[in-house]
Amino acid sequence: MSVFRTHVLLPVDEGTAQAGVFEVKRRLEKELNARQLLDEIKVLESGSVGIVGRGVILAVYPDRIYYFNVREQDVPRIIDEHLLKGRVVAELDHAPIASATVAASMGKGSKVGLTRTQRRIVLDKAWTIDPESIDEILVAGGYSGLEKIFTDKMSPEAVIEEIKKSGLRGRGGAGFPTGMKWEFTRKAQGEEKFIICNADEGEPGTFKDRLILEGDPHRLIEAMTIAAYAIGAGRGFVYIRGEYELSIERLRKAITQARQYGLLGKNILESGFSFEVEIRKGAGAYICGEETALIESLEGKRGNPRVKPPYPVTHGLWQKPTAVNNVETLANVPGIMVHGAEWFRKIGTDKCPGTKVFTILGHVEYPGLVETDMGTSLREIIFGYGGGIKGGKKFKAALLGGAAGVFLPEKLLDVRMDYESLKENKAVLGSGAVLVMDEDTSIVDMLFSIAKFFAHESCGQCVPCRVGTRQILDIAYRIRQGHGREGDLEALLNLAEVMFTSSLCPLGQSLIMPIKSALENFKEEFMMACGH
Ligand code: SF4
Repeated sequence: MSVFRTHVLLPVDEGTAQAGVFEVKRRLEKELNARQLLDEIKVLESGSVGIVGRGVILAVYPDRIYYFNVREQDVPRIIDEHLLKGRVVAELDHAPIASATVAASMGKGSKVGLTRTQRRIVLDKAWTIDPESIDEILVAGGYSGLEKIFTDKMSPEAVIEEIKKSGLRGRGGAGFPTGMKWEFTRKAQGEEKFIICNADEGEPGTFKDRLILEGDPHRLIEAMTIAAYAIGAGRGFVYIRGEYELSIERLRKAITQARQYGLLGKNILESGFSFEVEIRKGAGAYICGEETALIESLEGKRGNPRVKPPYPVTHGLWQKPTAVNNVETLANVPGIMVHGAEWFRKIGTDKCPGTKVFTILGHVEYPGLVETDMGTSLREIIFGYGGGIKGGKKFKAALLGGAAGVFLPEKLLDVRMDYESLKENKAVLGSGAVLVMDEDTSIVDMLFSIAKFFAHESCGQCVPCRVGTRQILDIAYRIRQGHGREGDLEALLNLAEVMFTSSLCPLGQSLIMPIKSALENFKEEFMMACGH
């Protein structure tokens, strides 16, 4: 493998693609070629850096500098000044790349909130390697967790024990202990077992799994192989949102490369263990993110949720024991296997060890994605990483966890972002989406949009949800139009409560959260809209 003195990374995602990242890349390669620098400087596409709305981003390593809003015509200056003379082009929008560990000088010298120091576990390689090159990934330590298991001759039970000791909990929303889920699946009766990765990221405002997959697809393959070994599965499936074209393409390439290198398929690393992964595109429905609906869809049926129990760990895919894990959950596994459970437990909180990937959206200066310790305050996420409220306006509310989330008012800005702390404050972590609203935002409008979303996404299988979502939408519409009636607010709550107690799956059960939190924290706004 050639050794390059400098790497120039161009993060590729939908935003940078629209801003012209491929044109900048072509120009860069052309200019480097003209100066005979292609042997010294490597240009590569990386996963998204997690910063949105700042055009084409160009990162220079080892100098650790980001350039933002890069245009084709900026390329010769970046080459002549920075890549040849080692001087940062001061006139261009730039910021230092923070280190990937938490330091006392958090954010020092950085102009952009999301370039502040983060603790990256699941995204540790995603922004610094070519996700399509298994060689780069191996050099960066990819597959070390899997290798360690076989080198140390760890039994499946020992792997499960390590994950249990680490305290890793599901990052898809429910927070169920991952080690326990694997143990239940391993102990379940049945010769054939499956591991499924839930990559059907449908929660509005959430795109963390996509960026993990685009940035480091091999991490998921490694994690699924470890999980498969632990539970005793020979086959695994990645159920992925159909719109995630780049993730699918990179995952396909990664699977092919992993097979060629003996890291997937028969007799992995000559351990005697064999495992295969297949990709399945999602059916395009929000409800297919629910594990039993996902399994139905994988079986080729309509994605309707099943009645639980029995749970997938005993009766999953084709009624066989199945562990369903979210992308972010699995992406933690290789790090735990390499560094050990004790290392993981020292990060985050006692009951919620590790990091969490948050997507910060709405009225903030720097929308994007950040990975930071579990238990970081909401204030730090919005005002630290997100750079505060856009245009100097005041904060009004944050909707946590997507559409099925909770509206938090200003008085709860210091709440810690972990399962327990949020539960104490009647909130949920959900998918990790933080939608920030400024003082001009109407919570009545927001609740109407959520009601519309739920009414559209209800699969219609059970009556409380099918009828309830429709009725809630009608009332929310009426209130929004200024025609609210006496008793409408009580009706909203009653309907949501009936749905909570009698709906079959989390979709129908969770509409209570945005409704209750909106009415509790912003009741006056609803009263005014109802003419009281
Ligand atoms: Fe379908 Fe709603 Fe019932 Fe869930 S709660 S099964 S989405 S109708």
